[in-house]
Amino acid sequence: MSEKHLNEAIHTLKESGVRITPQRHAVLEYLLNSGVHPTADEIYKALEGKFPNMSVATVYNNLRVLRENGLIRELTYGDSSSRFDCNTTEHYHIICDECGKIVDFHYPSLDEVESLAEQVTGFDVSRHRMEIYGTCEICQSLETTKH
Ligand SMILES: [Zn+2]
Ligand SMILES: [Zn+2]
Repeated sequence: MSEKHLNEAIHTLKESGVRITPQRHAVLEYLLNSGVHPTADEIYKALEGKFPNMSVATVYNNLRVLRENGLIRELTYGDSSSRFDCNTTEHYHIICDECGKIVDFHYPSLDEVESLAEQVTGFDVSRHRMEIYGTCEICQSLETTKH
């Protein structure tokens, strides 16, 4: 499944004339296989053993190329570092207050909210972002063992 996804992504890059360097391949592979929403730093740490000469700047550069080609999405959170999502289909996120983990979930896109916002404010709505917060199952069980 993710192997197919990886091959498709590489095909897309080649079609756009993007050179597939070993680092670029590794960054993409990591994002597709990890199933989480890592930061550039986490990706760097995960790949540093494999590519000792790679810098964080290289990771950022590769992420930018992947984003510009529509293969990943960047999730920005104010001043904390961005997280990268290889799931480019419509989905929402639920975020753990304790460990910061971001989990995907699917819910029909809230189009009615967008049109209501448009009517009420006169804005020309382009997109929306909704996030749910709570405590993940792992953190809940850690919490119960503590008491
Ligand atoms: Zn958690
Ligand atoms: Zn996601």
